[in-house]
Amino acid sequence: MAAFGSVFMPEMAISWFDDERWSEAEVVPGNSLQLHPGAHVLHYSSTCFEGLKAFRQGDGSVKIFRMDRNINRIAQSSELLALPKIDKAQVAQMITSIVARFADQVPEAPGSMYIRPTHVGTEPAVGKAAVPSISSCFYVLLSPVGDYFAGGDHALRLLVDDKNMRCPPHMGMVKSGGNYAGALLPTMKARAEYKADQVLFCPGGDVQETGAANFLLIDGDEIITKALDTSFLHGVTRDSILTLARDLGMKVSERTLTVDELLERAAKPGCEAALSGTAAVLTSVGTLIHNGQEYKVGNGGIGETTLKLRRALNDVQWGRSEDKYGWLTSV
Ligand SMILES: *Cc1c(COP(=O)(O)O)cnc(C)c1O
Repeated sequence: MAAFGSVFMPEMAISWFDDERWSEAEVVPGNSLQLHPGAHVLHYSSTCFEGLKAFRQGDGSVKIFRMDRNINRIAQSSELLALPKIDKAQVAQMITSIVARFADQVPEAPGSMYIRPTHVGTEPAVGKAAVPSISSCFYVLLSPVGDYFAGGDHALRLLVDDKNMRCPPHMGMVKSGGNYAGALLPTMKARAEYKADQVLFCPGGDVQETGAANFLLIDGDEIITKALDTSFLHGVTRDSILTLARDLGMKVSERTLTVDELLERAAKPGCEAALSGTAAVLTSVGTLIHNGQEYKVGNGGIGETTLKLRRALNDVQWGRSEDKYGWLTSV
């Protein structure tokens, strides 16, 4: 099985902004992006992206999960990066039409079609380190993905880093390239030194998130997770899981969680922790590593409540339960 996100559909949807308006969206070969080597994005990281999925329903139709949320988020990312303002209606049209074009390639459950809208600053101007790009390109890639848990569902090991930030505080809600590049070295070090899968960034002891997923602590029937602020990425999966958890009668506490409280609570039997994101949905965290010491979360394995919440979300995505919040868009 190819690595997640390494197989692409042969075509993509694309539109260019030329300082005044967006060009009419086109469908072009998926490997045909031409940029000037001096393009703003290649020097000053004027780039943002989204990750969402389309799911094949039981009746064979294809639906996209929470597309409006992802479009709003890339509109916000673009604004916070001083990229040209996107045309949300055009982007929605680009996403639904490219998915419809490749509808027969959307894998059956438990697979799905991963959708990667991307917005980059294209102006060839290496002198614009402190000035925005006046032109840009918006494209939508598709990548069919299999069952994320096909290799077995392992509980993750997280290095709890209470010193470093994942990114500057004002960049937390921007889904932008530089933030990921900046988190690579700390994550590679955590792998080499502690066999950790990810780093849980907790600057000043404030539990935020990992390099590309939100963090949830599940203590009995209560979920504790950081309240939304500008310092971290507002996950659509996070929001969906919290909504479904409330529906299941769980208590949702969006508030500050300190490393001290996390380590204290995690040790209790029955406690669970999980990472949420579009790719991995909801993945159990079994071990926390802090100051060279290992702490098991609950029994250190896959959490039952985590599985229950993941299933509840998957059931909506694949149309096995009622879409009562209107999260699915037909293509
Ligand atoms: C994409 C992402 C998430 C998860 O967001 P979803 O909308 O749930 O996929 C969380 N944190 C970071 C840093 C991310 O890039």
